[in-house]
Amino acid sequence: MSNKNILGDPSSIAPDYLNDGWLNELGRTRGAGPFLANHPAPGRGMSTTCVHAGTHDDPRTGAVGTPIYQASTFVLNDNQYQSVEDGFARDRFIYSRYGNPSQWAVQEKLAALEGAESAIVFSSGMAAITSTVMALVDKGAHVVASSDLYGGTFNLFNQEFPTFGMSCTMVDSYDFDAIEAAIQPNTQLMYFEAITNPLLKVIDIPRLVEIAKRRNVRLVVDATFAPPVAMRTLEHGVDVVVHSASKYLNGHSDLIAGVAAGPRKLIDMIWPRLLNYGGSLDPHACFLLERGLKTLDVRMRAHEESATALAKFLETHPRVKKVFYPFLESHPDYDTAKRLLKNGMGNITFVIEGGDKAALRLVDALRIPKQATSLGGVESLISLPFNTSQATFTTRQRADIGIDPGCVRLSVGIEDADDLIADFDRAFATIYSSKEPAHA
Ligand SMILES: *Cc1c(COP(=O)(O)O)cnc(C)c1O
Repeated sequence: MSNKNILGDPSSIAPDYLNDGWLNELGRTRGAGPFLANHPAPGRGMSTTCVHAGTHDDPRTGAVGTPIYQASTFVLNDNQYQSVEDGFARDRFIYSRYGNPSQWAVQEKLAALEGAESAIVFSSGMAAITSTVMALVDKGAHVVASSDLYGGTFNLFNQEFPTFGMSCTMVDSYDFDAIEAAIQPNTQLMYFEAITNPLLKVIDIPRLVEIAKRRNVRLVVDATFAPPVAMRTLEHGVDVVVHSASKYLNGHSDLIAGVAAGPRKLIDMIWPRLLNYGGSLDPHACFLLERGLKTLDVRMRAHEESATALAKFLETHPRVKKVFYPFLESHPDYDTAKRLLKNGMGNITFVIEGGDKAALRLVDALRIPKQATSLGGVESLISLPFNTSQATFTTRQRADIGIDPGCVRLSVGIEDADDLIADFDRAFATIYSSKEPAHA
């Protein structure tokens, strides 16, 4: 093939690319309105959307499912040159940091699930969070954020922000008066988590939206613990929803990814940050995430079923002092959870007798849950805040944020509830039957 073919007559090089209606189907042209108007899933239900939205059967071979487009770069044609010229580079395949069909497919599925105009995937939840926050604030800006943020996000606001001349006030996410009082003339953003870790507070998002709208401040919510089959965060009026897709969205503890979803106008502002910070998601990880998402709805139902049964068991166990699971009536946010969330999730935090020493023995005695941080996978994961997520805190600092000695973080997988209950029952019997005193 001559150079003339490559540069002069692109249609002879990539005829299938040019004729593949998928590009138009995806609504990547700058037409009006949400993508979903142009690209509906073949049904309205969440599971149907999980399975089908965005997924692209290969037009050449008929292979079912989106191929992995393992390419760093794409043959340029007039169309691409024109889009670069017009400043619409997000809408064409040029180079995979900018965009790749594997990214588009999974982005379309995520946008459909969130009911968003647009979504972009990132190489991690933190890449999604950093790019989103940095896109929505200017030099000198102030942010009001929750005081119980994910550690990485806490560090973004405390370590990175000052170097950019920005500041953040952290406020108890239950205290709406304090949240409003923290808003300053230069406040551009409110940043909260839908469900906090480890105490699993369910935040009243409609009240945050009301404050944000009235005070003319944008609101970003990290909904990692409340994936779209449980709550469509944007429908409450949140501006941009972000997730660590490494957790429930992917669901198999086998990749790191993130997503930001919202109106096209804001996602278009976030996309240049993806380019600048370089947090684009690899095509193979996109394939895995898209495959994981197909079972999101059934997985969440299974997480809820096993977690509810186990939480009830823990609540009645004589050695368990406290159980935090938002779908138990004893949880302070039970009513909020019922109001905002369509179904539950697998995270349970509980406190056992005997303090952190007993908790260490418990995690060693269990056979099913693996000792690991992270959450949202099909396999149960267990960890202790005192030696993982809050290891840098003193006992008193942990107590101040409500983490008592003997606190255990459990992400219930989709294993059978009976097996999990039997495992915990046996483990408790082992650790409390020995010579060591139960009370510490
Ligand atoms: C894990 C997590 C993150 C960070 O996501 P990564 O994919 O690990 O970068 C952000 N927020 C919450 C609530 C998380 O649980």
